[in-house]
Amino acid sequence: MNNFEIDNSGLYPLYVGMDDTDSVSGMCTTYICSVILDRLKDCGFKVDGPPRLIRLNPFAPHKTRGNGAVSFKLVLKSKKEIEKAKKLILRMVQELAVMEDPKTNPGLVFYEGNMQGETKSELHDYALKTIRTIIKKEETEKLAERLGIEFFGFKKGRGIIGAMAAIGCPLDDATYELLAYRDPANYGKKRKVDPESVRVMNRQTYPDTFDNLDDGYMAITPHTPCPVLYGIRGETTGAVLEAQKMVKVSEPIERSQVFLTNQHTDQHLQVAENISQMEKLQCYIVKGMVNDFPVVIEGGHVIFTLNDGSGSVECAAYEPTKDFRNVVRQLAPGDRLLVYGGIGRKGTLNMEKIELITLAPVYEYVNPLCECGRRMKSAGAAKGYKCPRCGNKIRSDSKEKVEIERKLRTGFYEVPPSARRHLSKPLVRGI
Ligand code: ATP
Repeated sequence: MNNFEIDNSGLYPLYVGMDDTDSVSGMCTTYICSVILDRLKDCGFKVDGPPRLIRLNPFAPHKTRGNGAVSFKLVLKSKKEIEKAKKLILRMVQELAVMEDPKTNPGLVFYEGNMQGETKSELHDYALKTIRTIIKKEETEKLAERLGIEFFGFKKGRGIIGAMAAIGCPLDDATYELLAYRDPANYGKKRKVDPESVRVMNRQTYPDTFDNLDDGYMAITPHTPCPVLYGIRGETTGAVLEAQKMVKVSEPIERSQVFLTNQHTDQHLQVAENISQMEKLQCYIVKGMVNDFPVVIEGGHVIFTLNDGSGSVECAAYEPTKDFRNVVRQLAPGDRLLVYGGIGRKGTLNMEKIELITLAPVYEYVNPLCECGRRMKSAGAAKGYKCPRCGNKIRSDSKEKVEIERKLRTGFYEVPPSARRHLSKPLVRGI
């Protein structure tokens, strides 16, 4: 590997990845990235393209919230400039990361040169593995050493796992998220974003932007004490920037940053050959048949079993999925489904969306009809039936099997924006 490879323009590319800088009680890796980028620009360093926000396996054990890592690319004039930029970034990560939180274990990686050929494809594979499975830090370190990627781990240094995935992730499909950050004086306080302006913005920009509203309510503001005031998700930089102009706020915005991201691309999903092949802490698209009528369990979660020839898996629509549960509740044994979702620690598949492929007939058993057209009533135990209108009697106790009309229709159904995983592709973006 040539570590000081020059690109066609005579500039030196430097890829920077970082992760695990924040804590549940505050801060955010995207914010630290934005602060660092602004400082780099102020110092005259050239940033190439938008920074990237890469969401990793939603079941990774040490995630704080949405398991996001970030990366960006600098194009620099000399080796000396590279060293200066690296020094600045290293210092700023150490200053800004929430080092005092025992669960924060920052990681920073630098890759110098053009990312191409074998290196590019190995990093692609590594990133997809980090998005779809669980990775050991040692595996990351070995690959980094082999590919000549410089890495810095602070404390336990776990962040290098995500940092390296962030520089390597392929983005064949991608979306954008504009993040507006608050004045630090307002952290933890109620966010002052005008809900009506968000509705107007949504009317004018949807579906170029999406997930702005949930059941008519504003969905762009987080509920954590983090630096983010709001996030607008969309198909292009232009769309999210236009949308921002329409959102009215009555508190200062310290800075904004548009990230290119794998959010809402379904990049976490693997097509499962069959149910028995699926593993915990991974996400799949799997085909199967509903085994039993769904049941509502304590907490309002709806559960049923999906099976195929190879095995079965418990599927859940949890309480936060709101109206999606009404769809799931109406499923019946024999319905054929394609389920999109992830398998948690306990082995339950948490559904993100479903395609209802075929509906099975559902029957109920009712008293027989009399010749006069009226439904008969039981004449008593083992005494057959009697018509309440004409008095006609029959001896048989057997009931009539009647097919029930299914209200559900075949097609796709998804969870609402508030329950959607960052990586999950909304139906409005296509299948
Ligand atoms: P935020 O979204 O607020 O930035 P987070 O949810 O991204 O926080 P982190 O604080 O970044 O959480 O912690 C996640 C940790 O898990 C990081 O150290 C990251 O390197 C690591 N990690 C991410 N994906 C995997 C994976 N697939 N296997 C093992 N570790 C992972």
